[in-house]
Amino acid sequence: MEKIGPQFRINPWRGEFDDAATERAFRQYSEAQMARALRRAVLVWAVLVVLFGVLDYPKLGWSAEFQLLFGWRLATAALLVFFYWQILRKPALAPAGYAATAVEIFGCFLFFLLYFIRHDMVTWVIGVIAISLLALFMYIPNRVYLSLLTAGFLIVGMMFCVAINGFGVETLIGLAFILMLPTVVGFFTALRWQVAQRQHYALLMQVMTVNSDLQSEVRRREALEVELKRQATTDPLTGLFNRRQYEMLFQRERERCNRLHQQMSLCIMDLDHFKRINDEYGHDAGDAVLRHVAQQLSCSLRHSDVVGRFGGEEFVLVLPDTGLEQAVAVLNRLREDLVATPVPVNGTLLPVSATFGITEVREDDTELEAILKRADRALYEGKGAGRNRVMTA
Ligand code: GH3
Ligand code: MG
Ligand code: MG
Repeated sequence: MEKIGPQFRINPWRGEFDDAATERAFRQYSEAQMARALRRAVLVWAVLVVLFGVLDYPKLGWSAEFQLLFGWRLATAALLVFFYWQILRKPALAPAGYAATAVEIFGCFLFFLLYFIRHDMVTWVIGVIAISLLALFMYIPNRVYLSLLTAGFLIVGMMFCVAINGFGVETLIGLAFILMLPTVVGFFTALRWQVAQRQHYALLMQVMTVNSDLQSEVRRREALEVELKRQATTDPLTGLFNRRQYEMLFQRERERCNRLHQQMSLCIMDLDHFKRINDEYGHDAGDAVLRHVAQQLSCSLRHSDVVGRFGGEEFVLVLPDTGLEQAVAVLNRLREDLVATPVPVNGTLLPVSATFGITEVREDDTELEAILKRADRALYEGKGAGRNRVMTA
């Protein structure tokens, strides 16, 4: 496993990422889950606050104290329900923690009030507070240092209540120790949980990064493969098929046409007086003409036709499912198109023409060389007869 990056370093005391952006991303990632857990905790808390009010009645009766206490309980429950609704509307409140802390601190006042009204259960109240401190850390999802703030407020408030009721320093110290215990246990448990959540998140992010790196590597290799294949099968100047590829495609088409008893023609095309273009306009202009002609060949012929660069300014055209007569018609049209579209090079239009030598591929033709030779002979005759024409053999 790779080392965890510095952006995932977790502060051991705060239990949060040192890197602000990572911490923000983590909170966003865990927002929905945290909001759900907080809503559940808030609801349980609201129910318990009201339910415990039942215990007040037998002791206090319908007294002013009972009414005050119950009123406070109802106010707390109402605040909690309101908070529940707020988290539902704005789940981002949960991971931020401040609103939950404010609600918790408000909740503390119930304990302070209880302390003054239910003298009969002062020791109980201490016990309930101890358990509440644990619950605060473990069941109310909040940032651990904010929970510690609430716990501190509750403990200091409680000590204050005890002090103004005239208890001595000895009791205060004892109380501090009793309440410190669940605070320390709760704090370290929550801290461990909070760190574990972030470690889990850091690992997940790392796996996702590695995964996406792998995916882009796969894509890069796929593109490379396509490029290599293109380089291996085409001529770099014109993009037409190179010798190896058109030979392979010729054999494939020949077998298919033989099987289906279809005719097939092959043609060699040679540009006329091409040397002149090179001599008068330069080699680059000659290259531009070759590219232009190649483009024209690819566009005018059928998709199933095979167009290859034979060498220099000569091209091989394989026309499957095409008899000699039909091929002559097709190539004459192509010849006329070439003549009709001079090539723009360096601001001048260069006229181009070509001579074509065509031959039909017979069923007993097995060697491509022999077929090419026949076509080349026809081409040679065409050159001799004045160029810019289609000749058959
Ligand atoms: P014709 O075929 O009509 O008899 O005359 P030609 O001038 O075309 O004669 P030939 O076929 O003998 O000359 C071919 C010329 O094509 C020779 C060479 O300078 C040029 N040539 C061959 N390959 C390339 C190439 O890749 N780029 C350029 N610019 N020119 C090339
Ligand atoms: Mg030539
Ligand atoms: Mg030529």
